[in-house]
Order: sequence, then structure tokens, then C-alpha cells
Amino acid sequence: MIAIDQNITDVRARIKQAATLYSRESSTISLLAVSKKQPVSAIQVAMASGIKDFGENYLQEAELKINELRGMSLKWHYIGAIQSNKTRAIASLFDWVHSVDRVSIAQRLSNQRPEGLAPLNICLQVNIDAEASKSGLLPEDVLVAVEQINSMPNLCLRGLMAIPAKSDDTQSTRASFSRMYQLFEQAQQLSDASSFDTLSMGMSADIEPAIAEGATLLRVGTDIFGARSS
Ligand SMILES: *Cc1c(COP(=O)(O)O)cnc(C)c1O
Repeated sequence: MIAIDQNITDVRARIKQAATLYSRESSTISLLAVSKKQPVSAIQVAMASGIKDFGENYLQEAELKINELRGMSLKWHYIGAIQSNKTRAIASLFDWVHSVDRVSIAQRLSNQRPEGLAPLNICLQVNIDAEASKSGLLPEDVLVAVEQINSMPNLCLRGLMAIPAKSDDTQSTRASFSRMYQLFEQAQQLSDASSFDTLSMGMSADIEPAIAEGATLLRVGTDIFGARSS
């Protein structure tokens, strides 16, 4: 039995420690628990430890969990790949989408966000290391996309998201995160800085380098819930 509550305590301690080491205020770093492929019972344990933000990658799986936990005042974040025929469901189920990888997807999400719901919070996914295997905007295309998306009525563009290239070399991971931070600052200049406040980067294996380079939101799955059975 994996002690999810202990894992959360440990992850929070790592965040505090890294924040101190890199002269960050730990209150400016939030934790998203990535619950993909985990049962509702695991989410409930995390909720008991005070987690309110959960990240999901698979729409059908997420829909079941969201419906089961309705009324619990949780925030649901979609972090998976987006096919255009899934945007309507994503726009109605989620509070946040981190994986918007092109302007046309943002346009669909804005058009399809149901009336009566708050604007959908989104982050633009950036393919920071220009990997053929990853989705996301290339760094040179981000600023134009930010300007276009900032005018979409039913979205609130909150920031940028990235998954750097896999590497055993912390320095190269930090370099990718550092380029994300520079891009984030440039994009913020074009936006309302009071809402463009989120740099979504850092997963279980790279929490510390992400904090070192300015992450404001960490997406952590394995180190909270244990290994996923796939
Ligand atoms: C699965 C996933 C995570 C969590 O990864 P862990 O290594 O399990 O912490 C974070 N972000 C995205 C986009 C993911 O798909």
C-alpha cells in the first residue's frame, strides 16, 4: 500500500526546501496532483491532505472521475493531447487546460466554452526543445499566438507549459526551463500580468530544477500516487 498522504508531505517538503535554496517564496509555487490512471479512492486520499487541483490526460477516464466527485469544489486540469473533436467536452468539463498547442484549438475551446461558466483557464504548451515526438508551439511561434489568444472572449490565458527533453543531465534540463522562463516574461509583457501568472513546468523527476528556474505550478503524478499501471 502506497502512503499517498506521506508522499504529499514529502513532495511539499521538497518544494519548500528547493524554494529556500533558490530564494523563492514557496507560496508562489502550486502543486497539481496528476491523477491519470489512478482510482477515485486515491484522489480522495489526496483530497484529505488538502489537494484541490487534479490533472488528467484521458478524457473518458476524467469524465467519470469528475462526475463522481462533483460538488467537492475541486479544480480539474486537462494536461493531455487534444484532438479537435474533443474540444467541446474538454471546454465543458475542465477548469484549466495546460496543453493548448495551437491557436485553432484555443479558438474552438473559446467558442465551445458553455455560457454561464467562468472563462476557461489555459496555458500554451511550448515544445521548448523542438522535439519531433512532442506537441506544442515552437518557441518562435509563441508570442504571436499569445496576442491572438488574448483577444478570445471565453478564455483566460494564464501562462505557458512545457515538458523538457528527457535528460540525465540536470544542467540541460535547467537550460530548457530557463528558456521557458524568458519566453514567459516576454509573453507576460503582451498580456494582463495579473492573470498571466502561470509557468507550468516540473514533474516528479525535475521538481527542483523547475523551481530553480521559476516554475509557478508543478505537475506531479508518480511521486504522489506511486507508479502508474499502464
Ligand atoms: C503524466 C504527466 C505528468 C506527471 O508526471 P510524473 O512523472 O508522474 O510526475 C505531468 N505532466 C504531464 C503533461 C503528464 O502527462
